[in-house]
Parts: sequence; structure tokens; C-alpha cells
Amino acid sequence: ARVVDPATSDDERVVEAALRPRRLSEFPGQPRVRQQLGLVLEAARRRGSPPDHVLLSGPPGLGKTTLAMIVAAELERPLRVTSGPAIQHAGDLAAVLSSLDEGEVLFLDEIHRMSRSAEEMLYLAMEDFRVDVVVGKGPGATAIPLELPPFTVVGATTRAGLLPAPLRDRFGFTGHLDFYDVADLVTILHRSAGLLGVEADADGVHEIAGRSRGTPRIANRLLRRVRDWAQVHGEGRVDQHAAREALALFDVDQAGLDRLDRAVLEALCRRFGGGPVGLSTLAVAVGEESDTVETVAEPYLVREGYILRTPRGRAATAAAWRHLGLPVPAHQAF
Ligand code: ADP
Repeated sequence: ARVVDPATSDDERVVEAALRPRRLSEFPGQPRVRQQLGLVLEAARRRGSPPDHVLLSGPPGLGKTTLAMIVAAELERPLRVTSGPAIQHAGDLAAVLSSLDEGEVLFLDEIHRMSRSAEEMLYLAMEDFRVDVVVGKGPGATAIPLELPPFTVVGATTRAGLLPAPLRDRFGFTGHLDFYDVADLVTILHRSAGLLGVEADADGVHEIAGRSRGTPRIANRLLRRVRDWAQVHGEGRVDQHAAREALALFDVDQAGLDRLDRAVLEALCRRFGGGPVGLSTLAVAVGEESDTVETVAEPYLVREGYILRTPRGRAATAAAWRHLGLPVPAHQAF
């Protein structure tokens, strides 16, 4: 697994749980989403009724799960957690919905990956607090309507555009999470260092924040690797020296690019003169599957303006040449 992977593993979830902010007031960054969500929750609290359903969209590792937990904590209601891939049949969803208590918060991670039949059941349930439970099979099957107590769905998705409109429309509030700036990551890292019980100075934390690709999950992971380095080779303190040494060891450079990212840029510039070159040709040159290059390396390289996707293939930008310490070719158009 890459140290800069924005996704997580089951093992890591355990460590992550300890680092999650518990209340909205402890949640750094995303000021708009925080204010909007704060208002929605406070109004619901004053009315004494569940808030509108909440949809959180944005790339992995930015705090969607954390915010779902915060919604439940702020409402002082229990949280039920499930995910789109875990709900393959409408019956799976019916079982969850019919066991919800009044006011409970249902977190549906990766909601865009639910089956069609479950989606339909969900938006009826969200609108009318009712499910039709089908009993029996074939011509004798009957649908028995079941009233549900009011509850709140918090859906999370990395691809809001993939949600069918009828489902999307059932969410009264949608919060879009964006990549964090360095200052917010610094705040997050100081807080995490405190929770991990490691001493961290401003330069050390700043060094890590700058390489974290705008993503708290990556920031926290890099912090743990720097802490390891500091405990083995240093005096246990996360400072700039420890950060630089540890991140060099894990191949994360100043800009947060790792070995695969740099290999893609190297191939593009040195082998293909900056492109454009087709994805599969580029992938062969770095010894990876096209899919890996496209889904693992490319999103960040495109977002940061190192490469462009053009109709004729992938092309390097001036930033890519500069990042590799190479002169920008005279013909370079972007
Ligand atoms: P997502 O559900 O969007 O993939 P998570 O909520 O699981 O992201 O967050 C991943 C990790 O990053 C968690 O350990 C969480 O504590 C941390 N994290 C995310 N956003 C923040 C934030 N604003 N402040 C502090 N930690 C955060």
C-alpha cells in the first residue's frame, strides 16, 4: 500500500478512530460545510425533530465519516453504520431500516454503490418513513407497508454525480468537502500529535502538512511514520529533520509525490518528450497497469497541474518539467 493512498484499510481504521474529532467545534477546516451543517443541526435541535437528510461528497480521506459521527454526537443520537457495497439487495436495506430507532442517524458510506432496487427503497423511506416489505415469492408475493420512525440519513460519496437525481433530491442538505490547505493540516497534525502523545514542533508539522496532498488521512499517516523514525533514529520528537528523513525513506517528496507519481512524470518528460502519449503506452513505460496509473497516480497529478488529459493522450505541463529539475522545452504550450 502506498503511504500517500487516500483510501484506508481495516487495520488503519482502528488507529484513525482515535484521531477523529468528536464535535463540530473540534473539527478544523471546511469552514463552509461546518457552518452550514452547524446551522442545520442547531435548528433541528431547537425544533426537537430530526434534521434533513445530509449528503457529504468529496474525495476519500477528507472527513466524511468523521462528520457523520459528529452529526450523531451533536444530535445526541445513536449512529448506525453501513455502506453501499454492503447493501446489495433491497432486503438488506429493509432489515437495517426496520430496526432503526426514532431519531437514529444512519450513515451510508459509498452510497453511490448501492444496488438500484435498494436505492428505490431508500428514497421512499427517506421521504415517507415507510418501507414495503415483500413477503413471499412469485405471483403470491405481497408487499406489506411498514411505518418507520423518523430518522436521519447521512450519505457519503466520492461521486455525487453518480447518484440518481431522485435519490440526490431526498437530501435536504449537501456538503461538498474540499482538499485542505496547509494551515488546516497543521492544526490537524498538532492535534493528532497530542492525541498520539508525541512531541511535534512547528517546522516538523509544517513539513508533513506540505506533503500530505491536502488530505487529513494522509497527513495523519505521514505523522505516524515520522513519529516511528523519530523514535528509532532521533529523540522521539517530530521536527523538521525527522520529517525530512522519514519522508525521504518513504519516497514522499516535497510536493507529496511518491515513486509512482514521479515515475509517470519521468516517463512522460524523458521518454515521450512531454507527450501527448496514450495512457496504455505510458503505463507500459512505468511497468504498471493502465488502471493503476489512471486511478492511483493521475488524479493528483492532474489536480496539481503536472499533467493534462488531452484528446490525444497525456501531456506534461511546465510544472512537471520543473518538478523533475529539467529545463522546460521551448515548445511547451502550458
Ligand atoms: P472519509 O470518510 O472522507 O474517507 P474520514 O472521516 O474517515 O474520511 O477521515 C480520515 C481520517 O482523517 C480520520 O482519522 C480523521 O480523524 C481524519 N480527519 C479527517 N478530517 C479531519 C479534520 N477536519 N480534522 C481532523 N482530522 C480529520
